Amino acid sequence: MNYVPGDLRDQLAHVGYDVVQAGLVCGSGGNLSARIPDEDACWVTASGAWLDRLSRTGFTAVRVSDGAPASVGALPPPRLAPTSEIALHLALYRARPDVNAVVHLHPQTALLLDALGEHIRIVTTDHAFYLGRVSTVPFRLPGSTEVAALTAAMAADGTDCLVLSQHGCVVMADSVELAHKRARYLEEAAVLTYRALTLGRLDNLREVPEEFLDRLATRPASAVTV
Ligand SMILES: [Zn+2]
Repeated sequence: MNYVPGDLRDQLAHVGYDVVQAGLVCGSGGNLSARIPDEDACWVTASGAWLDRLSRTGFTAVRVSDGAPASVGALPPPRLAPTSEIALHLALYRARPDVNAVVHLHPQTALLLDALGEHIRIVTTDHAFYLGRVSTVPFRLPGSTEVAALTAAMAADGTDCLVLSQHGCVVMADSVELAHKRARYLEEAAVLTYRALTLGRLDNLREVPEEFLDRLATRPASAVTV
């Protein structure tokens, strides 16, 4: 069965609804995008969009190569302003031709750990399969070309999950479905790390062995099934 049948915008709307229900978003924090197949363009959430109330009209198409409004098929260029984080999405699509979906959220547990100077631990095989390694991008102003360039540079080696310090997270994948799973598993890994911290057991928390992560890193994203 298909993940969500229909348009990529329907898939992104499902992601938005689910991540709000899961408590990964407060207010209208976060934004979503998907590369449109065979086009130099992506669908991206409009500025200020509430992620649990998205419909096809809540997205705008933007050219990946230069950030200009894009025409899709017979549709005229959209009038909605894209998310203020559009530079981040475009930089990732330019740096990573294998990436077709980008999910940027402000999940509270991942952000609390970052503010405490703790990294997210990779505890289970789900975390290992779906997240691989999680990198932290040093703080830069949200919406700036600096945060976009730095994040894209750190994702260029194939890293799919990054924490933007004091700001949020960004995950990417070759499909909306896989990006969605990564967003959920990233916060789950953060929650487990946080619980170990509150138990006073973080130093004893056993992580997935490095050799296992190295082996997984050689597998293509499409082979990720657990
Ligand atoms: Zn943000």
